[in-house]
Amino acid sequence: MRLLPRLSGAQCKTLVWQLWGGWFSNMDDVAMRQPILECCRQAGFNDIVSGDRWTSDNAKRYGLTHTMGVNFEPWSLNLAPHLKDHPDQRLIGTDGKPNDRLVCLTLLLGEGWHAVRRALDEKLQSVRPDTLDYDYEYSPANGPHSCYCPRCLQAFRDDAKLPAGTKLDPAAIKAQYWTAWVDFMARRVARLFGRFRQTVHELSPATRFSVYSGYQTPDNADRYGVDWRYVGQVKGADRAGCGYGRPVEAIRATVDGLRGIPLVCGALLVPYERDVLRPVLPYTKAWLLRTLIDSTGGLLAYDRLSFDGRTWCGSSAASNGPPRWSRGSGTGQSWLVRNRGPASRRRR
Ligand SMILES: [Zn+2]
Repeated sequence: MRLLPRLSGAQCKTLVWQLWGGWFSNMDDVAMRQPILECCRQAGFNDIVSGDRWTSDNAKRYGLTHTMGVNFEPWSLNLAPHLKDHPDQRLIGTDGKPNDRLVCLTLLLGEGWHAVRRALDEKLQSVRPDTLDYDYEYSPANGPHSCYCPRCLQAFRDDAKLPAGTKLDPAAIKAQYWTAWVDFMARRVARLFGRFRQTVHELSPATRFSVYSGYQTPDNADRYGVDWRYVGQVKGADRAGCGYGRPVEAIRATVDGLRGIPLVCGALLVPYERDVLRPVLPYTKAWLLRTLIDSTGGLLAYDRLSFDGRTWCGSSAASNGPPRWSRGSGTGQSWLVRNRGPASRRRR
């Protein structure tokens, strides 16, 4: 038997060191929650993804901020009561039927947004998170904002400069106009993120808005609905997160597209499927530092339920290096530049 070293992590003041909490907010035993937060602190984490008021109130005692996921499910931003009173605002799905809990995207980008604003206000007031995060991995065909109502189809017709009488429905779009639709949706979704960000700032100035999706690969907008170049253009988030694999070119393209919005890169413990029995590969210091160097805003660890002692220790070790990082005030990349600067001057 070999005992692991004590955790001795440092919590960075400038970069995000985020732990996805793994149903943390569902734990009803507060006595068990506190040691988990203490373990996070000792392993160098400074942010936890959770979702309830208890986390907002208590995480700060451990040097952690609280990120809460947000979406349009009934337990999050519940628009069903609003749509009951305004059935004409319902999103029309691929089956041509109105959806009782989703609002048409054209309306969300216009006057229909106030329903979301009210729901956001309620969430921010009741939970008081430090960051709201929209995990956006939806196909433009049938995601929560893919609306095929006459308003949205006309908007697409105008945008794609199609003749006035062009017949449009989900099947025709998929068969004939898919590339244009993907781009149209990616631009509209980026504008929607911008509305989220602006509204969150108005309702709760200290709260940030972040978006998670895939890296800027050629097919990310097709698969997951996000083209980071559009998010960068409209300043659609205070922070972005990506995590699948380590596609080096796509990471660069993501950073470029974001135009200065910090990118938090993922270190995903695999396998995370509960029915795969292959052991999880634990974090090493090198893995996490490389992730950090890839990023411009920090790293996200996914997720707590797959952690073992070696992974906690890997985070602790990585959080103590690079040696001069606590003095860095900018992003991972500028930190590298700064560290190279004095050395090259010395050489001269
Ligand atoms: Zn619509």
